[in-house]
Amino acid sequence: MDKNLIENLQKRHFTVHEAATGEEAKKIALDIIGSRSTGIGGSKTVSQLGLYETLTEQGNEVHWHWKVGPEKKKEERDLAVKCEVYMCSANALMEDGRIVQIDGTGNRLAGLIYGPPCVILIVGRQKIVPDYDSAIERIKRDTCPGNARRQNFDTPCAKTGVCMDCRGPARMCNVTAIIEAPLRVHKEFHVVLVDEELGL
Ligand code: SF4
Repeated sequence: MDKNLIENLQKRHFTVHEAATGEEAKKIALDIIGSRSTGIGGSKTVSQLGLYETLTEQGNEVHWHWKVGPEKKKEERDLAVKCEVYMCSANALMEDGRIVQIDGTGNRLAGLIYGPPCVILIVGRQKIVPDYDSAIERIKRDTCPGNARRQNFDTPCAKTGVCMDCRGPARMCNVTAIIEAPLRVHKEFHVVLVDEELGL
């Protein structure tokens, strides 16, 4: 794992965990969460690791809008940002330790910025990039087209794989945020670095 990145994250007061595999990352996340209620933001990584299922089975209160029908999504998003823990992935992680997130609805950023006092981000190795330009390039090339296709969003990137800076209602890139350090609401901000490709 990149020692420079780890040091840069620690200097910013993020708590860093290293995992060789997704399974190890899952165990780390479960240990951090314990019995606490957990909100989950849109995340292929979390989905791949089966964290929702394990948490539900072990009796945690879990809120994730991906697991409910369209009429319940708003309520579930609202409940997720009021849990004790908020969990998702990063869209990109820069070498200097800053986290880049884009959001279309805003719930994920709300959960990460002014939500639960404990945040867990699980980050696959392909999301680590040298700088901001590479972060945006990666997000527009890999993250958005994949997410749009998965959710059947009518965006140019879903059709062609290329960002056209669209203006339609399905646009996913409505906010781009850089998280430079934990916010004042955070008592814990965990970044789990996984030495494996995970998510989009
Ligand atoms: S701005 Fe539109 S086309 Fe570009 S990546 Fe975002 S959703 Fe896709």
